[in-house]
Amino acid sequence: MAKHLKLDAWKKEILTGNLCPYCNDLTKRIKGSEIYGEDTPWADLDFMLCRPCWAYTGVHQKSGIALGSVANALLRDKRRAANQVFDRLYQEAHLTRTQAYLWLAKQLGLNRKLTHIGMFGEETCDLVVELVPPFLEKLRQQTNLRK
Ligand SMILES: [Zn+2]
Repeated sequence: MAKHLKLDAWKKEILTGNLCPYCNDLTKRIKGSEIYGEDTPWADLDFMLCRPCWAYTGVHQKSGIALGSVANALLRDKRRAANQVFDRLYQEAHLTRTQAYLWLAKQLGLNRKLTHIGMFGEETCDLVVELVPPFLEKLRQQTNLRK
C-alpha cells in the first residue's frame, strides 16, 4: 500500500496555505488584527491571507505552518460545521482525536496525512457533516442494546 500520496507542488502550496486556491496568487502572512481587529484575542496571532479573495487560514503558532489552505467565507462556514461534528465524533464515540481522524480518513478514502479539516474543500466538509451523525446514532443504538 502506498504510504504517502505524491502531491504535485502546486497542490502542496495550496494545502500549506502559501497559494490561494481561488486566484492562484501568493498569500501573505499577516497578523490577526487585520482580520479580527486590534482588540481581539487573535490580534497577535499569525494568519495566511489572500487579500483580494478575503480567504484566510490560521497558522500553527509554534511551527509557523499554516493549518491548511486559505478559505473564503463559505468554506470557513463549512469547515466550522465539519469541526463541530468532528468534536462530537471523538467526544461521543470516546475516541482520541487521532483515532477519530483515522476513522474519518477511512470513511472518506483519504490518505491520513490529507485528513485535516483545514485541508478540506466544501464537498469534503459536507461529507463529514453527513457521515458523522448516522455513525453516532448507530453507536448509541448498540450501546442501548448492551444495557
Ligand atoms: Zn485569492
